[in-house]
Amino acid sequence: MDRPDRAMVVTPHPDDAEIGCGGTIAGWIAQGTEVVYVVCTNGDKGTGDPDMTSPRLADIREVEQAEAATDMGVKEVIYLRHGDGDLEDNKEFREQVVRAIRQHRPQVVFTTDPFRRGFYLHRDHRICGQVTIDATYPYARDHLHFPEHKSEGLETHKVADIMLWGTEEPDTFIDITDTIERKISSLKKHASQVSSDDGDVGDFIKSNGQRVGQRANFPYGEAFRRIQIRN
Ligand SMILES: [Zn+2]
Repeated sequence: MDRPDRAMVVTPHPDDAEIGCGGTIAGWIAQGTEVVYVVCTNGDKGTGDPDMTSPRLADIREVEQAEAATDMGVKEVIYLRHGDGDLEDNKEFREQVVRAIRQHRPQVVFTTDPFRRGFYLHRDHRICGQVTIDATYPYARDHLHFPEHKSEGLETHKVADIMLWGTEEPDTFIDITDTIERKISSLKKHASQVSSDDGDVGDFIKSNGQRVGQRANFPYGEAFRRIQIRN
């Protein structure tokens, strides 16, 4: 697909963006695409450390996400700061995503595929994906949704494509051979989530990238389900 001038990544937790689409994003940024992250939850439950508290973990993970985004060259990170596990498919959350889309006007929006039949899916991923698809189409497009945005100077916006990672039915494969090291380096900024007990996260990302890449004859790839919006 053509590289857009502006893209947005709506991620349920800190670290999902890097895993889901980090190689694609790094490649596009290197060629001039402006990328904004919307981080929906603060990730404040993601630990096995019995001495950790949610407020402290939320602080740690926001710093980690900022460092990962800087490593990647992301232009701006919007933190919605919902509790980890607390995302709801409601008007409040939908308005926040619509607002971000109207502010930054991406041609392409990345998020997680909310539909999965054969394997479990974290509730925040399911809701983040569903609400982001809805916010993209038709809510951000139609001026009578959240009309208060107009008085703040925000215009409606038509997104061209939604790219869903973590999908069971990929139809779009992107070569990330040149950027897989950047994907790994930015993922490693999420130090609270990357334990060497589980083996090197770089090896995991590489074997996964190879497995995906084989389907399209790339050394390393990322896979998405693409929704082209006919506005
Ligand atoms: Zn997640």
